[in-house]
Amino acid sequence: MILSSTLITLLWLCYATAQDTFTIAGLFHDDNYQSEMAFKYAIARHNMFNHDIKFKTVIQRIDKNDIFATNKIVCDLVSAEEGIVAIFGPESGVVGPMVESIASNLEIPHLQTYMNYKNNVNSNTVLNIFPDPELLSTGLAALINNMNWKSYMIVYESIDGLMRLQDVLKIPDSSSSPVTIRQLGDSNDHRPLFKEIKKSAETNIILDCDNSIIIDVLKQAKEVDMLDYFHSYVITSLNADTLDFSILDTRANITTVRLFEPNSMNLHNAVRDWEMGELNEMKEIFSLSTSEVLAETALMHDAVNFFTLAFRELHITEPIVAKQLTCDGRVKWDAGYRIATYMKIRPMLGNTVTGTIKFNEVGKRSDFNLHFAEIISGRVEKIAVWGPENGPNALNFTRSVHEQMQQIVENLQKTVVIVSSRLGSPYLKRRQARFEGDILEGNAEFEGYSLDLIDAVAKELNFTYKFVLTSDGAYGSYDKKTKTWNGLIKDLLERKAHLAICDLTITHQRREAVDFSLPFMTLGVSILYSKSKPSERNIFAFMEPLDTYVWIYIVSAYISVTLIMYLIARMAPGDWENPHPCDPNPEELENIWTLKNCLWLILGSTMSQGCDILPKGISSRMATSMWWFFILIISSSYTANLAAFLTMDKMAPSIDSAESLAKQTKIKYGTVDGGSTQTFFKESNFSTFSRMWTQMISTKPSVFEKSNSEGVKRVLTTKNQLYAFLMESSSIEYEIERNCELKQVGNRLDSKGYGIAMPVNSPYRSAINKAVLKLQEDGTLSLLKTKWWKHMYGGGACDDVDDGSSSAELKLANVGGVFLVLGISVSIAMIFAIVEFLWNVHRVSVDLKISHGEAFLLELKFAVKVWITQKRTTPEISENCSQNGDNGIFNKKSTSLEYNSLSSFDNNLKKSKESGLNS
Ligand code: ASP
Repeated sequence: MILSSTLITLLWLCYATAQDTFTIAGLFHDDNYQSEMAFKYAIARHNMFNHDIKFKTVIQRIDKNDIFATNKIVCDLVSAEEGIVAIFGPESGVVGPMVESIASNLEIPHLQTYMNYKNNVNSNTVLNIFPDPELLSTGLAALINNMNWKSYMIVYESIDGLMRLQDVLKIPDSSSSPVTIRQLGDSNDHRPLFKEIKKSAETNIILDCDNSIIIDVLKQAKEVDMLDYFHSYVITSLNADTLDFSILDTRANITTVRLFEPNSMNLHNAVRDWEMGELNEMKEIFSLSTSEVLAETALMHDAVNFFTLAFRELHITEPIVAKQLTCDGRVKWDAGYRIATYMKIRPMLGNTVTGTIKFNEVGKRSDFNLHFAEIISGRVEKIAVWGPENGPNALNFTRSVHEQMQQIVENLQKTVVIVSSRLGSPYLKRRQARFEGDILEGNAEFEGYSLDLIDAVAKELNFTYKFVLTSDGAYGSYDKKTKTWNGLIKDLLERKAHLAICDLTITHQRREAVDFSLPFMTLGVSILYSKSKPSERNIFAFMEPLDTYVWIYIVSAYISVTLIMYLIARMAPGDWENPHPCDPNPEELENIWTLKNCLWLILGSTMSQGCDILPKGISSRMATSMWWFFILIISSSYTANLAAFLTMDKMAPSIDSAESLAKQTKIKYGTVDGGSTQTFFKESNFSTFSRMWTQMISTKPSVFEKSNSEGVKRVLTTKNQLYAFLMESSSIEYEIERNCELKQVGNRLDSKGYGIAMPVNSPYRSAINKAVLKLQEDGTLSLLKTKWWKHMYGGGACDDVDDGSSSAELKLANVGGVFLVLGISVSIAMIFAIVEFLWNVHRVSVDLKISHGEAFLLELKFAVKVWITQKRTTPEISENCSQNGDNGIFNKKSTSLEYNSLSSFDNNLKKSKESGLNS
């Protein structure tokens, strides 16, 4: 019993200590010692921890392009007595296929670490640990998709690059934003190519070239200004982030791709192995940073680990025996296919540097991760990860949105932000020196709403900025013929500015070329028109209803009719009357129609007052009634016309909406040239607006103006209000605050907003949006508007101005002339009265033989006694007058003359009347 158990133990020990040693061949090139090291020390590590199976490595350095020598080396290797169980490498696409063909022919597992496009359907023992190129292409396409580039250019070195980018080539909508492809030339001077790219205004570039020339290519791009803040590069080399980008000193957005996480534990362990191995073997200190590890090195490390693991597992289940072979392929290695097939179905989940290793049926690696990183100030910062399981477009972002934003703002802070604008009140205008020595330089050269707004945004985000004026002064319109933009949009497209601001309207067409921030002001197109000017008021406006000639004719008619009337009355028997109606047979007849009475009758009728005496003859009555008829018509016409003339202001040509403007042709209307308002009418399908557009383009001279201010000037200076300017409501508001002769007519025709424009996909767009939103919420935007609209440069001037449209009452200026005529006539009447009075004084003085002075005093004294209403024909002489002291002025004659009250006379008269009546 004891003997048998001792025997079993011995046998087990024998078995346990029995070591199977297998040979693995590694083919490397001189320039990639890292991979060779990874191969060597991965096997060494395996051998250190596994006592059952040991691997021996045969390393051969081969020339990258020497197929013949490589063939010989491989044939020698396979024909070695102990046989080889696997071939690793080489990493070159030139000699690689030749090694692959020998290995597949002899069914020796061949582990490749380079990009191989072929579908190895006939090579059952080939296992390529490099990611499947098709999936790699999908991953790169996912990155480009997430960049939201509208267009981009692929700059590639060799055709392999294009194969890698197949899916990327399929992304853009080729009609609106085509992808352009350029190949790096054979010469080392790539500047001409980058100059050409610069001319094309493309700023998004995918660079696919060998790792060794990346920095040189980018340096040349920088020399021609193709590596600044506006440029974005995606570098497809999986080793790009091992390069030192800090020497480029660029603010360009550079994104790199890699296959593994440089800070992973597995990579740290592997690198430590390599350093220890080098120290033990080569007796020299070797140090390598994990960030310097090349993709091929990591892949080699993983490939060795995967193979040794799979081999051991298979060997335990059924021992594997190596075999001496020959290159003629007559004998194949029977275990090779088994090992390769096992590796294809058994994924390696952990203990790798490049993540899970899984092959598809044709031996291509179908599971891997792409790690995308950004080069920020020379540092590599991971931004996202993509794996085939994510689907074609999904990236797992590693930075939070906040972190991304912070990064962008940091970048912005390192740049002087160029802000393009155009002059136009109140958005931007040249500042006047405020005091002696006030320096008007840089941003201080300008002032206005736009400058204040950018200043507030800059304070919010803490960046510095510089205002520049766009060369052509235009807002930005697209010329369909030349397919080019002008104005501010052009500046952004040519990357002359980071931002563009003014009263720049956000439009669909512009949005295709540039990005806009959230609107900072909302508005709509409306009509600017001048208020009707109160016509120069003539105080004799009451004369205006009738033409001067008509007045002359009326006066002539008055005189003529008076004369005719006089003649008719003299001829008409009916107008010769009995002066004493009580005498039936008078000896004389009397005619009252003296010239004076005729004038009075005709005048009385003219004034529609009639007259106290009227003609009795048929002909004179006929003449009078015809005159009345004439006067009726004239006076009615005058009254009607007078009302119209006095309200003439309100009868000026008037419009109250776009419809009324469109319906008429008398008032011309236009817009600013090359702006969104013009485009609005040009592209409108709404019948009124398209009719207006047709009207505008057919009007000569042109109704379009270079700027809003010129439009405003035209509205003000065009006579008789015959020009209206279609302008944005915000600018109209500004103008009518200052110029009280202007008004807005009708409502807004549309609704839109002004935004800060920036190049498409500007990384800082969200930051600007956030700042604009904040300024809106804290009231800064409305304060700025009030400042520039209401307070600065004469704002608020028209707040108290009555536009006159509501007042219907007539002013003195309208009717003053009537007062004047009245005054003058009454004054003339007064003069006549005085003349008559004096004449009467003279008569009295002659009649009574008293002096003119006495007569004057006598008459005056009577005239001022307003309570006496009756007068003697001659004054009464009173004897005692001097005693009553009432009027001592007549003392010379000791008699007094005066017009006594006629009360006694009245009484006598009354009495005589009564007796007359009684009799
Ligand atoms: N704000 C306009 C623009 O951006 C100018 C205009 O048409 O009134 O084009």
